[in-house]
Amino acid sequence: MDKPIENYWQLRLKDLKEILEDNNFEVFIASSGDEAKNIVLEEIVPKIGAKSVSWGGSMTFTASGLYDALKDHPGLEVLDTYDKKASPEEIMARRRQALLADLFITGANAVTETGKLVNLDMIGNRVAAITFGPRNVVILAGRNKIVPDVEEAMVRIKEYTAPTNAMRLDKKTPCAKTSYCEECKSPDRICNHWTITEKSFPKGRIKVVLVNEALGI
Ligand code: SF4
Repeated sequence: MDKPIENYWQLRLKDLKEILEDNNFEVFIASSGDEAKNIVLEEIVPKIGAKSVSWGGSMTFTASGLYDALKDHPGLEVLDTYDKKASPEEIMARRRQALLADLFITGANAVTETGKLVNLDMIGNRVAAITFGPRNVVILAGRNKIVPDVEEAMVRIKEYTAPTNAMRLDKKTPCAKTSYCEECKSPDRICNHWTITEKSFPKGRIKVVLVNEALGI
C-alpha cells in the first residue's frame, strides 16, 4: 500500500468526523493545510456569508496559509490580532472586537476521540470566542492534536503544548527553561483558562477542519 500512514489517519479522521458530527459540530476533512485553507475560503466563508473575520492563538492557522490569504482580504472586515505594526493596546482592542465577528478562526490544543475540543488559554480571548460571541467559529486541527479522551488531552497540553508554547513566546516561566510544568505563579504563566467544548451550540456554529497532516504544536 502506498502511504499507509496517510491511509491510517484517513480512516481515523473519518470516524472522528462522525463522532464530532454527533456532537453537533460541522466537520470537514482536509488532506493538507493548503486544502484546509481552500475549504475555509471556498466553502465556509461563502456559505455563512461572513462580512467580518478575526482569529487568535493558532500556529495551524498561519501554517495553513490562511493568515496570508485573509489578512488583506478585500471583501471582509478584518480584525487582525497578529498585526505586528499595531500597538499592544490596539491588539487588545481588536481581541475584544473579534468577539463580535461573523467568523473567528483558531486551532485546538486537543481533539478527543470522544469528539470534544480541549483548550487552555493565557488571555482567554481564544476560548471566549470559541464559547460565545462570533456567529461562526472554525477550528483547524492537525492529526497530531488527536488524543483518546479529556484526561489525555489535559496531560498532553500541560506536559507538551504549554511548555513548547512558553518557549515559542519567550515567556519567563519555569517550563520554558526545563520543559516541565511546575504549576508556576509567574506573571508570564500561559495556563489560565481551560475549556472543554462537548458540543457545538447552536448546532453547526463550530466547524472543525480535521487535517491529515501534523500542524501546530
Ligand atoms: S503553569 Fe507555568 S510552568 Fe506550568 S506549563 Fe503553564 S506556564 Fe509553564
